[in-house]
Amino acid sequence: MPERDGLLGDLYKEILLDHYRNPRNKGTLETFTCAADGSNPLCGDQIRLEVEVDDETIDALRFSGVGCSISQASASMMTEYVVGKTVPEAERAIDDFQRLMIEGEAPVDDFGDIEALAGVAKFPARVKCASLAWKTLRQAIEHPEAAEPVTTDDRSANHG
Ligand code: ZN
Repeated sequence: MPERDGLLGDLYKEILLDHYRNPRNKGTLETFTCAADGSNPLCGDQIRLEVEVDDETIDALRFSGVGCSISQASASMMTEYVVGKTVPEAERAIDDFQRLMIEGEAPVDDFGDIEALAGVAKFPARVKCASLAWKTLRQAIEHPEAAEPVTTDDRSANHG
């Protein structure tokens, strides 16, 4: 589905399309310590994350699934950013990303390509696309035992 004109600036659009066309860390891992699945039913985005955590550090991370350019690019950017970081650092990055989606401004200096998603903050439906990978990462590293898939559809988020 083509993006609407004016959603993102030209430079940011280029960065986003680069991640969409040449995704980093796409695929699966032979061994991993935690995994999670997520979906964004509003858009049809689906993602699976497999994470290898060793001594509190994210050694490897792969994503697979299908979705729109924003969901896929955000997943690629997320994996690139958090590989090599500790679990607490990754959790902080997830919080920083949520602030980027609320404020439309990167809360940290070194957010790199992820800043290209700042323009998405103005479009709540696309925020769900961009946030999917990050919500799924939080599930994988904080609740790897949970069987329930992550969803961006808040109405179905009941804990029963
Ligand atoms: Zn989407």
